[in-house]
Amino acid sequence: MIRKKVLVTGGAGFIGSHLCDRLLKDGNEVVCLDNYFTGQKQNIIHLINNPYFELIRHDVTMPFFIEVDEIYNLACPASPVHYQYNAIKTIKTSVMGAINMLGLAKRIRAKILQASTSEVYGDPQIHPQIESYWGHVNPIGERACYDEGKRAAETLFVNYHKQNNVKIKIIRIFNTYGPRMHPNDGRVVSNFIVQALQNKDITIYGEGMQTRSFQYIDDLVEGMIRMMASREEFTGPVNIGNPNEFTILELAEKVIKLTGSKSKIIKMPLPPDDPMQRQPDISLAGKELGWSPKIQMEEGLARTIEYFRETVLV
Ligand code: NAD
Ligand code: UDP
Repeated sequence: MIRKKVLVTGGAGFIGSHLCDRLLKDGNEVVCLDNYFTGQKQNIIHLINNPYFELIRHDVTMPFFIEVDEIYNLACPASPVHYQYNAIKTIKTSVMGAINMLGLAKRIRAKILQASTSEVYGDPQIHPQIESYWGHVNPIGERACYDEGKRAAETLFVNYHKQNNVKIKIIRIFNTYGPRMHPNDGRVVSNFIVQALQNKDITIYGEGMQTRSFQYIDDLVEGMIRMMASREEFTGPVNIGNPNEFTILELAEKVIKLTGSKSKIIKMPLPPDDPMQRQPDISLAGKELGWSPKIQMEEGLARTIEYFRETVLV
């Protein structure tokens, strides 16, 4: 068997750590690069003794040299609380990180996948969102450091491909949840589960009528692997998400029911530029990758609640 050598930037984060697990399980050699801004050693500690796993502390805004076959570029804080904490650093991570990783891919002729986001669509005016939609993003708003950073990264990917023949893959990830989300991450699924398990108030921002479509982590990882292995001419961008759409209020009610919590729902101010609706059109992923999500909300939430019960409540 030929082992591929794969670099995962942001590999100690929520998604990155699951991707490292899967790549190793598939018989690859994995180099995990992270600066631990939002990631944790805890997420990959079970891999440390695996001889095919290597951990490197590094910041993607600085150049990095290595020989690998494939690169998954995930390094970037993803929770609004964390990416707004140091907005300039977030843009640098997206843009300089993309430049450094694309430069590396060009030099070593590696295939490179960018973890882009549904946030490139901003507060969308078409529904569901299809890849050809250009988006509706406020370039000077609170979310711009992330949204515009990710949009610029897509532009860089496309141009390294056109000008330098770098083999690129772009996926636009919609809201994803699962075990190993940081309990203080600030994203809605982890917030609600942790609050419910502790019988604390469930904090709904606004009226809770805004929608999101939540995808379970295992479905995303499968989509990433399939995208990396897809035919060379297919560069994306391709949406990877679960089209089952819920209001945030519905999510809160589901979490209360599944945890058997005594928590009450309280309403707090809606953050500026918070998108009102979000739902992926996944026909392209179906056609090109033969991919569709398999795990629905009840099952995914139950697994995630179990994880937080074992880690947060101990
Ligand atoms: P996360 O915060 O758990 O993981 C991000 C990882 O990147 C962390 O381990 C962090 O320490 C690392 N990192 C941040 N800045 C870095 C830097 N400058 N150099 C090196 N490492 C750095 O978030 P996640 O949910 O796992 O997201 C992973 C990727 O997927 C991100 O690029 C994010 O934009 C994208 N994404 C996630 C979602 C989602 O719902 N989770 C949705 C869309 C896109
Ligand atoms: N949200 C909420 N309560 C929380 C955290 C988030 O009502 O404790 C809302 C948030 O305003 C947004 C949605 O849930 O409308 C999803 O937020 P998240 O930060 O998870 O992701 P994003 O807004 O980037 O999709």
